[in-house]
Amino acid sequence: MGINSHKLSIFTPMENKITNIKKQLKGLTLQELKGYFEEIGEPKYRGEQLFNWMYNHLSFDFSEMQNLSKSIRQKLDENCQIQTLELVTVQDSPSTGTKKYLFNTADDKKIESVIIPEEDRATLCISTQVGCPLDCKFCATGIMGYKRNLSVGEIVDQYLLAAKDYGKDRLTNIVYMGMGEPLLNYKNTLSSLSIFTDELTKGVSRNRITVSTSGIAPKIIELANSDLRIKLAFSLHSCFEDIRNQIMPINKKYSLKENIEALKFFEKKTGKRITFEYTMFKGLNDRPEDIKALSRLCREIPSKLNIIPFNSIAHMNPGGVSATLEPTPIDKLQEFAQRLRDNNITVMVRQTQGGDIAAACGQLAVKY
Ligand code: SF4
Repeated sequence: MGINSHKLSIFTPMENKITNIKKQLKGLTLQELKGYFEEIGEPKYRGEQLFNWMYNHLSFDFSEMQNLSKSIRQKLDENCQIQTLELVTVQDSPSTGTKKYLFNTADDKKIESVIIPEEDRATLCISTQVGCPLDCKFCATGIMGYKRNLSVGEIVDQYLLAAKDYGKDRLTNIVYMGMGEPLLNYKNTLSSLSIFTDELTKGVSRNRITVSTSGIAPKIIELANSDLRIKLAFSLHSCFEDIRNQIMPINKKYSLKENIEALKFFEKKTGKRITFEYTMFKGLNDRPEDIKALSRLCREIPSKLNIIPFNSIAHMNPGGVSATLEPTPIDKLQEFAQRLRDNNITVMVRQTQGGDIAAACGQLAVKY
C-alpha cells in the first residue's frame, strides 16, 4: 500500500509569523486568560470569550472574534499571538486510516502526533517533550534523545491543529502517549489537562483523556491529588524489577514496587481503573512466570491490561539491548492473552496501527 503524505498550510507563514516578543495566549488556562484581561484593563469575561474562540471554535485569528470590540481586537493583535506550532506534513496510512502529523515549533524543533481511528472512536496521541530523556530500549523516541519540554501551548496546539484538519467532532479520545514522558513535564501537562477538562471546553470528555507514564511514582501521587479525574495508563512491560531495569532505565530510580504503591493510591483516590500497557518481547516477558506475576498484579489493583505487539524500531538502527529485542510471535501472544483471560484478567490485544508510516506505539521519532 502506498502512503499519502502532503504538505499542509493552515496558516500563512508571513501573516502569522511566530515571534517571541508578543504575549502567547494559546496555552493559557481560563483563569490565566481572565487574569490577563484584567491586567490590560479589560473585563474578565473577555478571557472567557477568548477561551471559547481558541479552544472551542479553533479560531486563531483575532479578526474573526466578532464578539470582541474592534479596539480590543486591535490591541490583542498588536500585543499577543495565538500560534505555537506550524503543521508541516500529514501522512496517511491507507491500510488503517492512521494519520501522523509532523509539527514545527518556533525554535525549529520537530514533534509528531498521531490519530488512530477505531470502530467507534478516534484517538489523538499527543507528545509532551521534544524527544525523551528516559531511553526505554524498545522506543524510537528514547533513542532519539531529549531536546526540551513542550510548552502548554505546544501540547494543546497538537490537539487544536489536528482537530482542525480531522474534524473536532470526530476526535473522541486523547492519550498523552506520544513523544516524551508527560510526568517529567508535569506543570505543563497539568495546565494542558486543565484546558481540556475545563467545563467551558466542548470537546473530549475527561473520561476519555488518558495520561500514560513509564513510572514517575511521586508525580502519580500528585496527579491523583490534582482532582483532574483523568485516566492513567502505566507502561509496565514486566512485573520483574530486573527486567524492567534492563529495558526501562527509569526503573532504577523509581522501582516497580514504589510505582505499584502510587498506582494503588491513584486508583483509590480517583476511582479510575489503571490501564497496564504491556509490550511483548520474545523470551523476555512472555514466559509462564510472567502470566503468574501479571495475574497477581492485576488482581491486586483494579485494572485492565493492554497487550501490545512490539513494533520494529529498525529505522533507528539501534544498538545494545535495543538491538536484541524481538516481537513475540502473534500466535504465542494470543495464547498468552487467553491464559490471562482464563485467570479472569481483563485483557485487550492492541492491533498494531500505523506501522507503515512509523506512527505505531514506540515508533515516533524525528531525525535531526
Ligand atoms: S516509551 Fe515513553 S518514556 Fe520511554 S523513551 Fe519512549 S517516549 Fe520516553
